[in-house]
Amino acid sequence: MGMKVCLLPGDGIGPEVTSAARRVLEAAGADLEWIECPAGAHAAEQYGDVLPAQTLEAIRHHRFALKGPVTTPIGKGFTSVNVRLRKALNLYAAVRPVRNLPGIKTRYDNVELVVVRENTEGLYSGIENEITPGVVTSLKVATEKGCTRISKFAFEYAIERKRRKVTLIHKANIMKLTDGLFMNCARRVHEELAPEIEYNELIIDNTCMQLVRDPSQFDILLCENLYGDVISDLCAGLVGGLGVVPGANIGEEGAVFEAVHGSAPDIAGKGIANPLAIIMSSVMMMNHIGKTDVADRIKAAYNAVLAEGNPAVLTPDIGGRGTTKSFTEALIARL
Ligand code: NAD
Repeated sequence: MGMKVCLLPGDGIGPEVTSAARRVLEAAGADLEWIECPAGAHAAEQYGDVLPAQTLEAIRHHRFALKGPVTTPIGKGFTSVNVRLRKALNLYAAVRPVRNLPGIKTRYDNVELVVVRENTEGLYSGIENEITPGVVTSLKVATEKGCTRISKFAFEYAIERKRRKVTLIHKANIMKLTDGLFMNCARRVHEELAPEIEYNELIIDNTCMQLVRDPSQFDILLCENLYGDVISDLCAGLVGGLGVVPGANIGEEGAVFEAVHGSAPDIAGKGIANPLAIIMSSVMMMNHIGKTDVADRIKAAYNAVLAEGNPAVLTPDIGGRGTTKSFTEALIARL
């Protein structure tokens, strides 16, 4: 009996891309037993909650999950499932590696960076108030504990993965207390834990400009919650879009692996979503749980399919005219 892992298909293109990832993992011999867990719109209809307690329990128990995107209503309705999940399971570190892939031509050919995003605090604390009609506030929360643990995570990651540099992204010139605290914690962790790693600080607006001018100057980008969210999509755009950037949400007790992209309602149900981002996220999961041979096999297979660049196989977002299925099957054939 294989290791048990939770599977949250999610909304929109979620079920399409997660089932592709599952097929690839099975074909690569990952030997996993999937525990399917409801989350998102379907869960709300069936269980009266977009994030049912049983789903949280299952992830707590089995510790690892592969998750499709879930839809969050804009400007009204329930708190984001993602925010709730990350907070409830204390998945404080989002890790999003962004790099050029073979065969995907973009304006840049030397992108090799990792966004490390704080996942539990900042403006995503969801503390919003109407002070008086016409006046509302949103509270940005930073704690010394939260800022220190994400800084430690980033520097430890840098040491383990033999990376060269950590850049802290901030707006401490305006948000002197919150971003100031984040910055002080990062400085302290750098000095105490990893003085050998190069460290610098960059204001968020300047960071955006520098990223589109020359992304090769960046290595690890350490961000608070909102900046990390925005920067992740910007970086995805540098290497071919949201269809090719994976992610992991990591905490002390477990980890949830998911692509950076959302439920893509514009293409849901059409069979043309790119499954690569979630497949790459499953590769991160295999590495995380020590199944590096499976991870290497899948990685080599998708690199080969991309390098071949057959437009009949690749999905439209990366210049092909293929489908989720054609890409998945070509990948499996290469395993
Ligand atoms: P999105 O990432 O869903 O889509 C943005 C654009 O990228 C769309 O044009 C979409 O078609 C394209 N795209 C995204 N993933 C793709 C893929 N795998 N293959 C091909 N094209 C792809 O962002 P959005 O439209 O702003 O958000 C839609 C919904 O997803 C919202 O409800 C949002 O809250 C939610 N969302 C969820 C997550 C998550 O669950 N982790 C993350 C981001 C957004």
